[in-house]
Amino acid sequence: MGKGTYSRAIAKALGVPHISTGDILRREVAAGTKLGKAVKGYMERGLLVPDSIINLVVEKRLSQPDCARGFVLDGYPRTLSQARFLESRFPVDVAVLLEAPDDVIVERVSGRLVCPRCGATYHVKWKPPKVPGICDVCGAKLVRRRDDDPEVVRERLRLYRETIRPVVDYYRGLGKLLEFDASIDSREGIPLLLEKLKAFRAARPYAQAVHV
Ligand SMILES: [Zn+2]
Repeated sequence: MGKGTYSRAIAKALGVPHISTGDILRREVAAGTKLGKAVKGYMERGLLVPDSIINLVVEKRLSQPDCARGFVLDGYPRTLSQARFLESRFPVDVAVLLEAPDDVIVERVSGRLVCPRCGATYHVKWKPPKVPGICDVCGAKLVRRRDDDPEVVRERLRLYRETIRPVVDYYRGLGKLLEFDASIDSREGIPLLLEKLKAFRAARPYAQAVHV
């Protein structure tokens, strides 16, 4: 999967902001804002945050000037009602469905480690720190985010597959769905996906939604 890796690379290549609803919500939780307090319980249990909250967050972010020329959304829309909301306010050119087997996803996600002090990210297999469990940058002890625990990831995947089907069908019906096998290494996958996106994009303003 590696949707963060894919969507960041695509945003960079297109010169538009990469917008991860997960990142926005985690920042709010860390900052202890009213929004953060409202979503904390859902996120810790690996559950989907209610559409009404997510839609507001996305609308606020996409209304900012840097999104006027386009954007890449990561992790949104995840439900049919989110997709309909997005399409009514900020219609996208293409929705990318990155696909990979559950085991591949669990291995990737549960291997992630983050530094609680400086925010540096690692992966036990693909980007290990020089000293196991210790941040290269600042020397703090690395942690796995609660929502990256294997059982939390599996539950999130189960919910995800259940809710994503109508979203996939919706974008397919609009002729905006691009399905992509993301189980290959992202170094090969990213140029390939960029090529496919290029072929997909029409001459209209280039809003892009990328989600998994
Ligand atoms: Zn650090």
